[in-house]
Amino acid sequence: MARSLNDPVTMLKGVGPKKAVALNKLGISTVDDLLTDYPFRYDDLAVKDLSEISEQEKVTLKGTVASEPTVIRFGRRRNRLNFRLLVEHQVIMVTFFNQPYLKSKVQLGASLAVYGRYNAKRQSFTGMKIIPVGQQNDFKGVYRASKELKANQVQKLVELAYDQYHDVIRDLVPLSLRNRYRLEPRQQIIHDMHFPTSKKQADLARRSAIFEEFFRFQAGLQMLKKEDRQNQGIAINYDNQKLKQFIGRLPFELTNAQKRVVNEICRNMREPLKMNRLLQGDVGSGKTIVAAIAMYAAVTAGFQTALMAPTEILAQQHAEKLSKLFAPLGINVGLMTGTTVSKVTARREMLKHLANNDLQIVVGTHALIQDDVVFKNLGLVITDEQHRFGVNQRKKLREKGHNPDVLAMTATPIPRTLAITTYGEMDVSIIDELPQGRQPIETTWLRKKQTNDALKFMERQLNDGAQAYVVSPLIEESEMLDLQNAEEVYQKLQDYFNGRFKIGLLHGRLKPDEKEMVMQKFKDHEYDILVSTTVVEVGVDVPNASIMMILDADRFGLAQLHQLRGRVGRGERKSYCFLIADPNSDYGKERMKTMVSTTDGFVIAQRDLELRGPGDVLGTAQAGLPEFKVGDPVADLKILQIAQEEAHRIINEPDFETREENQELIRYLNHHRNQGDNLD
Ligand code: ADP
Ligand code: MG
Repeated sequence: MARSLNDPVTMLKGVGPKKAVALNKLGISTVDDLLTDYPFRYDDLAVKDLSEISEQEKVTLKGTVASEPTVIRFGRRRNRLNFRLLVEHQVIMVTFFNQPYLKSKVQLGASLAVYGRYNAKRQSFTGMKIIPVGQQNDFKGVYRASKELKANQVQKLVELAYDQYHDVIRDLVPLSLRNRYRLEPRQQIIHDMHFPTSKKQADLARRSAIFEEFFRFQAGLQMLKKEDRQNQGIAINYDNQKLKQFIGRLPFELTNAQKRVVNEICRNMREPLKMNRLLQGDVGSGKTIVAAIAMYAAVTAGFQTALMAPTEILAQQHAEKLSKLFAPLGINVGLMTGTTVSKVTARREMLKHLANNDLQIVVGTHALIQDDVVFKNLGLVITDEQHRFGVNQRKKLREKGHNPDVLAMTATPIPRTLAITTYGEMDVSIIDELPQGRQPIETTWLRKKQTNDALKFMERQLNDGAQAYVVSPLIEESEMLDLQNAEEVYQKLQDYFNGRFKIGLLHGRLKPDEKEMVMQKFKDHEYDILVSTTVVEVGVDVPNASIMMILDADRFGLAQLHQLRGRVGRGERKSYCFLIADPNSDYGKERMKTMVSTTDGFVIAQRDLELRGPGDVLGTAQAGLPEFKVGDPVADLKILQIAQEEAHRIINEPDFETREENQELIRYLNHHRNQGDNLD
């Protein structure tokens, strides 16, 4: 059988079952895995002149041993080996910690090369290793190791693999791409990553290695996407005339971004393919109206459409907005939430209408995905704040129809990195423009002792007819404490304002209809101030509210703060956000500063990603980021983007299958498909 990089490591002469098991524990099972197990850093063992060395640099020094080595023990297990080394007429004190056995290699008067860290001020040197004479390669990779396999054993195995397999390393990035981006051939990448002679050589190879790694991954995703799109979907032949009228009757003109996005969605809907589209837009960018247009399009083509929101308040609000839009057209909007479930007859009635297509538009919470909810003809499924649903919930809703078109909305801007890697199989539409006339929200970070300043400011605004949110400190661990906090804040504000303003209280312990009542009163301006726990976070729309005051703001994450702030700045009034916080960590201060410096959700999301890392940004409902060996999707975003664009372009070219330069890539994709590997 022909050798291939997909061979198991046991095919290597010199790797038996025991080593194979040890390699497996490092995530290495094939020759390819081993060859792409690149060093995580390189040590430069080339001997340097003292004058070239900067403070604390890691270097190799060569000199003559000028004193007898001594081992000094201190504590139970600790010790250090000391000796003097004469380097270019200077005497350097060399210390090795906890390596007493090196003593035998240090002989007075002998010449010696040591690798370690140089402290120029004190003319001392902390040794890391002694370099044997005749060391061939000055520049050496350092490998991940385990209990069973030391770093230099891994290195030996890599050498072995390279010796036996270098002639079957094939290029999976097509030649035209390699030429365009000046990428090295794969054989050279692998050679230079493992056995470079300089940092420059290693860096060049790394650039190509990162591209090739991202390209492989993206090619897999783009292939899935292509195949998914070839699946039969529904062609929603909407009535363009009616749709235009509908848009023309809106009380405002769509922003350019909204128009673009509506076009993208409508084009997808008309195609007989499945739409799988993510609609991103910052809070207040006008996603709901875009959703409404898509829903209306589906209805004009005789299809039903469902919108699922993560909370009852949101679902109610959507239903209300949509009802207003659709009532003049004689189209009913159903609302199905946990509360309507209790009204057995109402629910039964609605189920009947859905089953025989008397009801075309339904909005709800996950009450929508219960088994007894059956649609006659579901053509379009929309999820709002889609990241709050699990994969299965979204799937269940989709399965209420036969390959319906799917539109997932999110107001949590997703940094490019995550959009490309985690949602790579979806098409993405972005509303990157706010409706005209919105004034930026002025954000101020105040210390707790300045709280009264904010309250005085608030009072003037309230007297002017504005309304305010006050968000009480978040206690993640305990819903009880969360509630107590909100009640305490409520009481304090009652005392402070002493009847001058009406104050409402909203918290998670209220029953859904109680919540709704409080919200409604705030909307109707029966309350001037709404004290709330974070239940107010998502989507709530009260345009007259123009002040957002967040207490202990440093307890919230950036994404949450951004969502909260997005509750204001939705109307004509100039809006203000006060972050009250005495953060005691740099991370907390950093978040406050970020909030003050920008209102751009994408910038905030990117900052969040940098501060917290992808796992936390995505939350638990999401599958994490795929693991990359060399590429860092955050730091190497540019390369990731190019790899995605190119993979998409190449795979969708009409002669993709037949072009000679693509054959290796095709073999790779087929191999992984047959293996059932999860490319996403
Ligand atoms: P999102 O869902 O993206 O947070 P909404 O759809 O709730 O935003 O829109 C926020 C507010 O802006 C709503 O009151 C909506 O009526 C209004 N709006 C939406 N699009 C426009 C537009 N093009 N021009 C003016 N106002 C708009
Ligand atoms: Mg919305």
